[in-house]
Amino acid sequence: MTIATELPEATRTQAGRPRAGEQQPITMLNPDFPFSYDRYLEHPAGLGAIPQVHHGTEVAVIGAGLSGLVAAYELMKLGLKPVIYEADQIGGRLRTASFPSAPDVVADLGGMRFPESGKAFYHYVDLLGLETQEFPNPLAPATSSTVIELAGKKHYANTADELPVFFREVADAWRSALNDDAAFKEMQEAIRIRDTRRIKELWNELLPRMDEQTFYGFVAASQAFKDAGFAHREAFGQVGFGTGGWDTDFPNSILEILRVVYTDADDKHRLIKGGAQRLPEALWSHAPSNMVHWPEGTSLASLHSGSPRGAVDRITRGPGGELLVRERWGRETAFPAVVTTCQSWLLSTRIHTEESLFPAELWTAIERSHYMQSSKTFVMVDRPFWKDIDPATGRETMSMTLTDRLNRATYLLDNGPDKPAVILLSYTWNDDALKWLALDADQRVELMLHSLEQIYPGVDIASHIVGRPITVSWEADPNFMGAFKANLPGHYRYQQRLFTHFKQDSLPANQRGIFLAGDDVSFTAGWAEGAITTGLNAVWGVVHYLGGSSARDNPGPGDLLDELGPISLD
Ligand SMILES: Cc1cc2nc3c(=O)[nH]c(=O)nc-3n(C[C@H](O)[C@H](O)[C@H](O)COP(=O)(O)OP(=O)(O)OC[C@H]3O[C@@H](n4cnc5c(N)ncnc54)[C@H](O)[C@@H]3O)c2cc1C
Repeated sequence: MTIATELPEATRTQAGRPRAGEQQPITMLNPDFPFSYDRYLEHPAGLGAIPQVHHGTEVAVIGAGLSGLVAAYELMKLGLKPVIYEADQIGGRLRTASFPSAPDVVADLGGMRFPESGKAFYHYVDLLGLETQEFPNPLAPATSSTVIELAGKKHYANTADELPVFFREVADAWRSALNDDAAFKEMQEAIRIRDTRRIKELWNELLPRMDEQTFYGFVAASQAFKDAGFAHREAFGQVGFGTGGWDTDFPNSILEILRVVYTDADDKHRLIKGGAQRLPEALWSHAPSNMVHWPEGTSLASLHSGSPRGAVDRITRGPGGELLVRERWGRETAFPAVVTTCQSWLLSTRIHTEESLFPAELWTAIERSHYMQSSKTFVMVDRPFWKDIDPATGRETMSMTLTDRLNRATYLLDNGPDKPAVILLSYTWNDDALKWLALDADQRVELMLHSLEQIYPGVDIASHIVGRPITVSWEADPNFMGAFKANLPGHYRYQQRLFTHFKQDSLPANQRGIFLAGDDVSFTAGWAEGAITTGLNAVWGVVHYLGGSSARDNPGPGDLLDELGPISLD
């Protein structure tokens, strides 16, 4: 069901870089700000310099998720001393849980599959030497079989071509809607060749028209889906594109969906072997060479003597203009600059943040943030029994499954023949996630197994389960309060304020020096790429705030924001 599949898998390197003579790949060059973060990161001149007097100066970084760690890592390389605060564990929403009886068997509770087009993400994956492999998405090459079960009807397929023609019509209608009403082909071509002028031209024309449209409204208003009829729209919601059903996103702004499909964010996914949390953990412990100021062997872990500081409960401005960060258990430290990377809601709900630190319009944008709920439930099984061939049908016993039942999506995660394997029984969002919220892990598993029994009668999944299930509802965790942001119609203005806040020249002195970063500040929330790139924006902001600058040949995000940045709709 994926829209764009240009290069055969075999021609790709691990991170999806083209080899000589290949077509340029699609990257997550976001149309709101098509700044090439990957080239910025790879440039030999580096990310800039700060005045020597600031070498060793402490800068607070709130949150040890991917955004905070990238920001801290780059600030350390520039000679500053990041001081990281974390309320829970290193990794944030890149959280990997182990099954206690088999610690090598892991489950990614947050981010788990990373598009090859996320080049800044793979910059760090490659730098830190992490191994990746293709993620078993529906109908993906790494998935030996997929079952789509809708309204009690079951379709088994190894590839999309084997599905009934109805599903091809659904995919075609989506492709037509995108091409007819959202200049999909033109935008992808412009992204592929990094023609930023053309990207902006196309996007800036679409923005005012589309900001008030929902995803569902866009689909329903398209001629292609009008011609196809309701059944096609409904099936599109259930099986969608890329990772599967997207109908829980139907009330969100269509701009959010366009950002995903233009940049192939929902396509060609890879997982990190050993779990996604290995990336933030590696950033924490890695000692980069040739740093400014710090001796060889210095890492974020060594700067912190092994552990970040605790949860922040207050951020205020001190009498001398310094920023004061207080921890839950009372310690307070002054900093010239602070980067916050936790979900923005936490700045008013869990942290006493002095109101005057941000302009009132920014507070409005923070409070209007709309988060998706999300739940996942995993079980460990004795072996990948789903690969057993059913003698009656000649098919695999069980498949990656998309269904309109409670579970919505079931993923099969193989660790090798006869090794304990993992089933992600159910991965859900929004209303579908809320159905699980009040239930404990065992109650969830019972209902999920019941649904799967209807799809796979006679397959005794339960008898393969070993150990205890692992489940998560991100909205129930006080350090997150939601899975990730998804803007509603009319929210573009809020996102623009949040994203551009890192460039502070026009702010009064009492509102400068504190920088927002992280997933929900980005234009691609729900993708780790956005956490990284907003972390880099904050680094640029801190460097300039402290009197530093970008390298002459390597302009940073703030240097190009006016030229390439998100337009104002007012
Ligand atoms: C269910 C789910 C599925 C996802 N799937 C994907 C995917 O497949 N692919 C992909 O690319 N991305 C995915 N994402 C998004 C990805 O996980 C995020 O973009 C990324 O992990 C966010 O990193 P961050 O640093 O911005 O925020 P976080 O990871 O939230 O880090 C913020 C940190 O701040 C800490 N914190 C909170 N309050 C305080 C406080 N008071 N003091 C100190 N610290 C505090 C938190 O504990 C947390 O560690 C998914 C996310 C979720 C939840």
